[in-house]
Amino acid sequence: MATLLCIGEILVEMVAEQVDQSRRKPGHWIGPFPSGAPAILADQAALCGAEVSLVGTVGADDFGEACLARLRASGVGLDHVRVDEHGTTGVAFVRYSAAGSRSFVFHLAESASGRFRLDDLESGLRGVDCVHVMGSSAFSPDAVDSLTEVVDGAVDRGVRVSFDPNLRPEMLTRAEYVQALQHILRRAQIVLASEGELQALLGAQSDSTCAAQLTAGAAEVVVVKRGARGASLFRPGHAEVDVPGLVVDEVDPTGAGDCFGGTFLALHLDGADPLEALRYANLAGALAVQQRGPMSGNRSIAELRAAAGRTGSSR
Ligand code: ATP
Ligand code: MG
Repeated sequence: MATLLCIGEILVEMVAEQVDQSRRKPGHWIGPFPSGAPAILADQAALCGAEVSLVGTVGADDFGEACLARLRASGVGLDHVRVDEHGTTGVAFVRYSAAGSRSFVFHLAESASGRFRLDDLESGLRGVDCVHVMGSSAFSPDAVDSLTEVVDGAVDRGVRVSFDPNLRPEMLTRAEYVQALQHILRRAQIVLASEGELQALLGAQSDSTCAAQLTAGAAEVVVVKRGARGASLFRPGHAEVDVPGLVVDEVDPTGAGDCFGGTFLALHLDGADPLEALRYANLAGALAVQQRGPMSGNRSIAELRAAAGRTGSSR
């Protein structure tokens, strides 16, 4: 069984009930849903059979307990999760627009959820096969330090690094954010990016040019997630492989990328054929968007295998 260490924010999400709902007027909000990109990915990787530990912090409040209860039930190891008696758990408020876009208000960087660190690199990384980090976690100078420290510590110890840039576009004007993510991207063996993110960080023309740069360096595999259009896989010495998206009714796309990532990582680290890992991840992402709430659509490997027998149609 592959062992995976994920680091970053654990928070709750409130979802606007109506499309185009204002955040400037009273309205109905649904939640709290356990969330935080690294937490969603950890949850799904555990459901797919990986031995997963999460590094993070929550406040000593109901929101924190809701997150921990969910993660515990999915089998995520919480030994490195701290409950901060003096802090509150972070909250994100998400709304969708009729045009299909999504926007967030985060109460995060100043919350307990914003303070995560693997205190003892030596013991924390012992026996770990892979460390997974995400660009969405690099929201403060301390967070950038924590991520860089764990990535460099992993590389020094021969532990593989998995990275999802998960870019926050409003942060791209900050040089220290961009430099930290470029550094991590070049060190990662496994890269799970959304369309356009690699170009934004590497300045190259296309996904395939960026993937070629990365696979000529440290990367053993680069995956590009393309939403409803599926995903692509790039490996050194192999042609690009594309899987089309499955035809589904999208209810809530938040978390699909992390559900995809958790599935892919669990299977890939366990030695599955990369194409099989890609197909299961594509299926997991398609199932995830059909449920409201970022972790609500996460599925166990047994459920994915059963669903794989039922699905046929793709775009
Ligand atoms: P996020 O925007 O939350 O960061 P992401 O960009 O990392 O997510 P997406 O590409 O949106 O990830 O979704 C991940 C995967 O889930 C896709 O590559 C695809 O396999 C599947 N998926 C997402 N949306 C849909 C959809 N509408 N229909 C079918 N499959 C989908
Ligand atoms: Mg997306």
